[in-house]
Amino acid sequence: MIKLSAMQLTISDENKVFNIHTDGIPYLSFDMLDKLGVPHLYTTRYVNYDKATCVGEKGLRVCVMRDDDESEAAPHVLEVRSRLARQLRSSIEMEYITDQKHTNFVNVVREGELGPIWPNNKPLHRQYVDGMVTDIPGALLTVFGADCPSVYIADPVKKCIGLVHAGWKGTLGKIPAVAIAQMLLNYGCDPADMYAAIGPGICRVCYEMGDEVYDSFASEWSKEDADRIFSRYIVDADNPAAKDDGEAARGWKYHLDLREANKMTLMRAGIPEDHIAVSNVCTMCNSDTFYSYRARRMENEQCAMMVNRFR
Ligand SMILES: [Zn+2]
Repeated sequence: MIKLSAMQLTISDENKVFNIHTDGIPYLSFDMLDKLGVPHLYTTRYVNYDKATCVGEKGLRVCVMRDDDESEAAPHVLEVRSRLARQLRSSIEMEYITDQKHTNFVNVVREGELGPIWPNNKPLHRQYVDGMVTDIPGALLTVFGADCPSVYIADPVKKCIGLVHAGWKGTLGKIPAVAIAQMLLNYGCDPADMYAAIGPGICRVCYEMGDEVYDSFASEWSKEDADRIFSRYIVDADNPAAKDDGEAARGWKYHLDLREANKMTLMRAGIPEDHIAVSNVCTMCNSDTFYSYRARRMENEQCAMMVNRFR
């Protein structure tokens, strides 16, 4: 177990999935991607954290929310992301973000497109886009999410990266595979050389879904796949992990495992299983530490960042 705060954050990390950084704005990084030397991060609620006293200030804001006053929020979040970029030895002038509308569209970042643009004057081709890939040296990709995992993709041979936002709709649309396909087409990657990490997000036990979501996966993937990535739990606050015995009765709800679903997509796209790291951190189970849409709605989000730089 790793403890960032005796009170607030306890991450089960028996497999050493993450490294925790508390200098500057605190963040998590994947040990596997750290070993490749790819600068990347995943933020928390914390603005700062003092390891000696186990006290930190919360309320980090990385993006403009719908109810925010844009004229106040936009400069603030750009300054926060500037600091995060500098912690990765990059710059906000190298950043690329998109609109994120739960699609499976992935942009290929072009020269001349880097730099802060949030929230206004976003070009049309960045709207309705939830992922991006780049081979531009030093480019910084940023994705936001409060329960939806980000999927980080890196190819140390062709020196290119991808980052996608994979909520249930993006996961249904296999957005990690779309990003990988863009990297194969544009950069000549071989999936056998690629690495991927599925970031923090909502866990299966927390992620109750309507029957229609199961039906969507059963029809667009297959029934076998849907049965593998969905569990059915009885709706009982005192016993949330009770497993279905096969009875199709009212009171049972489907729960989706986004980690398993995205891992299947990455492996089917050809990434070796031992090149895939999977988060063991749930944003909703740990909603004191992470923003969780399901737990507390629209407060703010975490950001995932990755720089196209290899050791
Ligand atoms: Zn959970």
